[in-house]
Amino acid sequence: MSAFKQQLTEFTTSLGLPLLGVANPSRFDELPAYAHPLSIMPECRSVIVVVDPLPRGGFRGIEEGTLWTYNGRRISFKLLNEIARYIEQNTGYEALAYEATPATSAPRSKPVSNGKVVHNVELNLDWTAVAAGLGEIGMCGYLLTPQYGPRNALGIILTELPLPADDVYSGRICDGENCRACADVCPMRAIDISKAIIVSVAGRKTKLAKINFSLCATCPNGAMKDVNFKIGQEEMMPGFTGNQENLTETSTALTRKSVPNILSAVCMRTCIAHLEDNGKLDITFKNKFRNEEPWTLQNWER
Ligand code: SF4
Ligand code: SF4
Repeated sequence: MSAFKQQLTEFTTSLGLPLLGVANPSRFDELPAYAHPLSIMPECRSVIVVVDPLPRGGFRGIEEGTLWTYNGRRISFKLLNEIARYIEQNTGYEALAYEATPATSAPRSKPVSNGKVVHNVELNLDWTAVAAGLGEIGMCGYLLTPQYGPRNALGIILTELPLPADDVYSGRICDGENCRACADVCPMRAIDISKAIIVSVAGRKTKLAKINFSLCATCPNGAMKDVNFKIGQEEMMPGFTGNQENLTETSTALTRKSVPNILSAVCMRTCIAHLEDNGKLDITFKNKFRNEEPWTLQNWER
């Protein structure tokens, strides 16, 4: 690890973000220009992803069905900006805390000039984290890290500073068809593993189930409206649910719909229980996450 990368990791750790991964922008070359970091920052040399590990206790109230706790998927822009400022002030290289412009604020009908892509360029959190070596995307479509499973909030920083890239994670965390726990627990059958497809994520072959997010949007088992909704999540999600070739912007500011955050839902909580019970995660607890069958409701039972 370079001296500054070590220093940066120590700084982000002091901010409560102990995992940091770096991808070379070339790892995004299989994505279209409107999803490529170089479209945002042409001189970008490093794509940094940081992880805020979500406490397991943040899932407890909803696991018990007694307190609806919300687990956000994004690290605050303020914190990411602190990291960008740290890089600029310590190295003299430009750094950008990535945040997609909110869906309704930037209608996108044409590029600002010839040769540019239509704004806003969207970086997918999970895809970028895989490119930065932090883990794999599970059958459920969310990043799984070997330390925390799905309990991750993520943030992206682009910088002109050249940093050594981390290797793409080569292990396996998700048990795929041998597990199916997230799909089997879903009372609405929104996760269809029989329609799983294999896509390339940062050069890594990844099997993803087809997920019906329209059903998830009505799910009373812990799925939540994404209060921090940004464009990227919506436009890229279909690519991870069966259609990577169709990552085109088809909605408008008026028709755009939010993809729910399913991190706290029974499917993802079941993934936490499965990974912990099978010794898949580095971070362990004294007590099991789940000791009884999870509660579930049909969408008409809310
Ligand atoms: S519950 Fe099982 S199949 Fe689903 S994402 Fe987790 S490990 Fe993979
Ligand atoms: S969010 Fe709800 S509907 Fe969607 S997969 Fe999870 S449990 Fe099923």
